[in-house]
Amino acid sequence: MSATIIDGKAYATGLRARIAEAVSGLSHRGVVPGLAVVLVGEDPASQIYVRNKARQTMEVGMSSFEHVLPATTSEAELLALVAKLNADPAVDGILVQLPLPKQIDAQKVIEAIDPAKDVDGFHPINAGKLMTGVPGFISCTPLGCLLLIQSIRRDLAGLDAVVIGRSNIVGKPMAQLLVGQSCTVTVAHSRTKDLPEVCRRADILVAAVGRPEMVRGDWVKPGAIVIDVGINRVLNPDAGEGKTKVVGDVAYAEAAAVASAITPVPGGVGPMTIACLLRNTLEAACHRRGVAMPQ
Ligand code: NDP
Repeated sequence: MSATIIDGKAYATGLRARIAEAVSGLSHRGVVPGLAVVLVGEDPASQIYVRNKARQTMEVGMSSFEHVLPATTSEAELLALVAKLNADPAVDGILVQLPLPKQIDAQKVIEAIDPAKDVDGFHPINAGKLMTGVPGFISCTPLGCLLLIQSIRRDLAGLDAVVIGRSNIVGKPMAQLLVGQSCTVTVAHSRTKDLPEVCRRADILVAAVGRPEMVRGDWVKPGAIVIDVGINRVLNPDAGEGKTKVVGDVAYAEAAAVASAITPVPGGVGPMTIACLLRNTLEAACHRRGVAMPQ
């Protein structure tokens, strides 16, 4: 069997085009959605994410407000900026890039963001809404994963799903979204006994761990849909000394020989995260400004 490769890059491009069309429709009514992105410190990976977010925000016709603060920023200073953005009518969505420097309590900052502008979906109010089935902002990476799964199979009711990872930003909301689709969900983590055997039950297997190629081909049930969230930079001796490449949490070639569909890394889940962030920002703008969300 050879798996369908789930092309997240193409899906995200289509999603961004639909968002751009909706934004253009809103601009005729004087509404320009705005996304504020806050970066504290000089982490190179975070700088790249923030730059990509700003570029893609502007490409769909939204306003992008970038705030780059020094690594020495205090918690009080960051909280003051969040309060300012909460009060700014031009800002519909606020994203504070994680991780934050040690002196800042990330949870405190997340909880300071107005839930109506929490386009990352990390605020406990939005996490609670997802848990209770009330509309709210859904964390972008799991939302992107669900869209990719449903691009392969619309009706997921009754399927066995296994999510490896229980973080607040990926694993837990992913599991909740799959429960919402009437899957029977198992959440696995570092203390799970016999993980390969647990994974072999999965019709849908989502790996969000952060361990390069941990999930092997013989962990995958024949015909399963495999979603690889992991982004791991590893040495790539084939490309030369000191060269690196990015791999997922799944041993791709092995798993692709068994699965019915699989996301590649890169080009799978990654591009969906920013596209879903823009979708959430569009939704925030419509909601805050009392206009219907374009379909
Ligand atoms: P966290 O480190 O917060 O969570 C990792 C989870 O994996 C934890 O629940 C941990 O268990 C579990 N875990 C660790 N080791 C094992 C193991 N040996 N067996 C089973 N479970 C294990 O990571 P995130 O959720 O933030 O991210 C996960 C991965 O996804 C990372 O590679 C990250 O880079 C990537 N990512 C990709 C995004 C994208 O846009 N594509 C966005 C966000 C993340 P425990 O709780 O017991 O410690």
